[in-house]
Amino acid sequence: MPPTFAELELDADGLRAVEALGFETPTPIQAQTIPLLLAGRDVLAQAQTGTGKTAAFALPIAQRVETARRKVQALVLAPTRELAIQVSRAMQDLGRTRGLAVLPVYGGQGYDQQLRGLRAGVHVVVGTPGRVMDHIRRGTLDLSTVNTVVLDEADEMLDMGFVEDIEFILGKVPEERQIALFSATIPKRIDALAQRYQRKPARISIAREAATAPQTRQMYVETHHREKVRALTRILDLESPSSAIIFCRTKREVDELSGTLQGRGYTAAAIHGDITQVQRERLLLAFRDGRVALLIATEVAARGLDIPDVTHVFNYDIPGSADAYIHRIGRTGRMGRKGDAITFVAPSETRKLRFIERQIRQSLMKMPVPTTADIAARREEMFRSSLVTAIESGAASRYTSLVGTLAKDHDPLQVAAAAIYLANGGPGGRHEEPAAEEGPPPRRGSASEGEVARLHLDAGRAQGVSPSDIVAAFTSEAEVSGREIGAIDIYGDFTLVEVAPVVGTLLLARATLPLRSGRDVQITAAEPKRPPGATAPGRPSGPRKGHKGAIGGRASHGHKPRRPTTSGSRPPGAHKRRKPARGAARPAGVGKRG
Ligand code: ADP
Ligand code: MG
Repeated sequence: MPPTFAELELDADGLRAVEALGFETPTPIQAQTIPLLLAGRDVLAQAQTGTGKTAAFALPIAQRVETARRKVQALVLAPTRELAIQVSRAMQDLGRTRGLAVLPVYGGQGYDQQLRGLRAGVHVVVGTPGRVMDHIRRGTLDLSTVNTVVLDEADEMLDMGFVEDIEFILGKVPEERQIALFSATIPKRIDALAQRYQRKPARISIAREAATAPQTRQMYVETHHREKVRALTRILDLESPSSAIIFCRTKREVDELSGTLQGRGYTAAAIHGDITQVQRERLLLAFRDGRVALLIATEVAARGLDIPDVTHVFNYDIPGSADAYIHRIGRTGRMGRKGDAITFVAPSETRKLRFIERQIRQSLMKMPVPTTADIAARREEMFRSSLVTAIESGAASRYTSLVGTLAKDHDPLQVAAAAIYLANGGPGGRHEEPAAEEGPPPRRGSASEGEVARLHLDAGRAQGVSPSDIVAAFTSEAEVSGREIGAIDIYGDFTLVEVAPVVGTLLLARATLPLRSGRDVQITAAEPKRPPGATAPGRPSGPRKGHKGAIGGRASHGHKPRRPTTSGSRPPGAHKRRKPARGAARPAGVGKRG
């Protein structure tokens, strides 16, 4: 087992800082260098990008600085302005618990702001070599109180021709100082620099991990952060993984995501450092037995566990390094079995993706976010193949005589269609639109029975609900596309909304939705439409005039409003406090509670 942060001799402030950032366990480079740096040793450390080198030097610096003395006590040099800013932010985060003052100093920014910062007195300066040198020459940066210097991304700084600047700067710090070099690679020139300036440096090198499994299909999905949940649930609905691990970076993200997924009806279990060993074992057992299909975990929590081979690995956050990536996706595609590894990449993270691709010498296939039509098509395909299996295996033959009898009076095609209709839940069941072959999806709201799902919302005109409230809530809160919303009929104290079946399922799984007014509406399945002529149970007060919303360029048609009830045998009114009807109206996707 890797050591804990506490075992690295971090003090209470440091532990609180890592806790606040959601770091669970030190990365290998952190585990190895933090104790050395805290002890004042010089360090020459090599580890790939994304392995947490910043915190490796930031935490010891924060702990060793005397915050009561407002003098520059540590200097961090970074190759670029972006990196200087990034490192400075990270150090601020890690030093917040003790009031560490960090100032980034880089070219391209006016001197004024930097001068003000320097005059005010800071504990740490993070800068690019050129600008730091400028400040020293101008007499605006005094390094006589510095006792720690870090060269971050040292190889890059040398590549960029900063060696003379660095030597100039090192010449201005006191003889008694600690120097740490952090680098993704250690070329000869870094060795030379180390020999000249460091004292008996401890050499730390974190090995890169083995290559990835060839049987694993590696894909990535490009999605903005705010659309991640939707992209994930669509993929889960499309792929119906029987066992999947979803990796998140921090335990907070693990908790958030598992809460969200559970709220949407998926059986998900969260595993991270705050979950006790006993609980973990129990969750794992459920996962192995298939009672839980989705395991949401931080990488480190998953590391110590004996997790069986899974069909899918999701990187809900792009891993920081190729090693981490390889480690994570190694959970699938073992022993010649097939597996899918799907990595979520925000548009701003494409560089990280390219970096990983270079390291693993393989490119990831881009996977589009599935559409609702894709999901419907896939379900139909699965249903079709289970029908074929039933026919070919002969398992259905016991019903042939019944079909034979029915076929005397009815078209066999219609007999089969009726059987499928009933198998899909009959009235109120899940009857998806056939997937469009080409061109636009079939028009919703043409509303022959079964093509749309109808939802009952327990607020209406009396509560001031307007069609735009509904559209706003559906689109912004539930991330439904406006095109997936059909007729909105607002009555006295309830509202009926027609939506695409998949959307219906999604909203039913949520059960409630906040409106703009702040009011939460309960969403339940509305009674399916009756064929014209069938008598509806009358509303006691009689239907008031419905407010017809015309969404998606069509007006609603004249069905008679009626008191909606949930499908099934629940007594009227019981739908108010119901758990979402997990029955026929749910997709068959594995991983959903059912
Ligand atoms: P490097 O400098 O090695 O490229 P960074 O220091 O930039 O890596 O860290 C990469 C990412 O990993 C950052 O987002 C950082 O917040 C995160 N990180 C660092 N240490 C940990 C940890 N112990 N646990 C979880 N995440 C961490
Ligand atoms: Mg770095």
